[in-house]
Amino acid sequence: MPPSPYIGRFAPTPSGFLHFGSLVAALASWLDARAVGGRWLLRMEDIDPPREAPGARDAILQTLERYALTWDGEVVHQSQRHEAYADVVERLFRQGLAYACTCSRKQLEDYNGIYPGFCRDAGHSRDGAAIRVRVPELSYRFDDRVQGPFEQHLGREVGDFVIQRRDGLYAYQLAVVLDDGWQGVTDIVRGADLLDNTPRQLYLQELLGLSQPRYLHIPLIIQPDGHKLGKSYRSPPLEPDQATPLLLRALRALGQAVDPSLIGATPAEVLEAARQQWRPEAIARQMTLPEADLR
Ligand code: GLU
Ligand code: ZN
Repeated sequence: MPPSPYIGRFAPTPSGFLHFGSLVAALASWLDARAVGGRWLLRMEDIDPPREAPGARDAILQTLERYALTWDGEVVHQSQRHEAYADVVERLFRQGLAYACTCSRKQLEDYNGIYPGFCRDAGHSRDGAAIRVRVPELSYRFDDRVQGPFEQHLGREVGDFVIQRRDGLYAYQLAVVLDDGWQGVTDIVRGADLLDNTPRQLYLQELLGLSQPRYLHIPLIIQPDGHKLGKSYRSPPLEPDQATPLLLRALRALGQAVDPSLIGATPAEVLEAARQQWRPEAIARQMTLPEADLR
């Protein structure tokens, strides 16, 4: 296969262990890259040390290895990228595209998470303040490969958003956009919990002159009881010795045909078979899994 310009990535946050929902996202991202001979990068999104779980980073790497989800090159750590983030915050601030916000949580609690712009023209100094980027009164839209067209009005639905927190930590929105740009990521495959973060990221890409990747948001897995399977809900960490059955379940969740002979196969064999038959168009926009498939 000729080398492909496709560059995909998996970008876990080490605040917990991988669970079935993260496996489905990682698997889809891996298959989408490998099916076209693309690269697949791994980035630890360790920008929030207080929220890190001890041992999570190593456990995530080990699980990916056990599940044969091999990555290319060195693992990038966002904790090593602070200088790049600081440069951009500084530049946006100097250009007046971002400003310091001293609002307390309490002052903002009645606004449904939409920043009302109190500090927009206050000219606060940066010391001890959060930094927010000014958003335009515009809708940002994109065509998701599974979810279809998605659009959000940044002014009305989001408001000026934080790129550096008051405690100095950098925001996910900023770090993810800078790193995807820096690593040359062409295709983002991730969970639909991030769908409504994407317009903010499109805006930052535009502001920073970065090209816009393609997006594929995997539907959230809804449990039969209506709970979302994810970080907020207690879903069990992935068992290392269950790699083959869990990979087969994840493939079924993604609407992929699964040959029964794969039950006795190694994880690497399962992935190779799935890679050859990868059909992203078979992914449903929503998925509800039978109870048995969640164990
Ligand atoms: N680090 C984010 C998370 O684990 C994912 C970032 C992304 O894929 O854009 O939720
Ligand atoms: Zn403010």
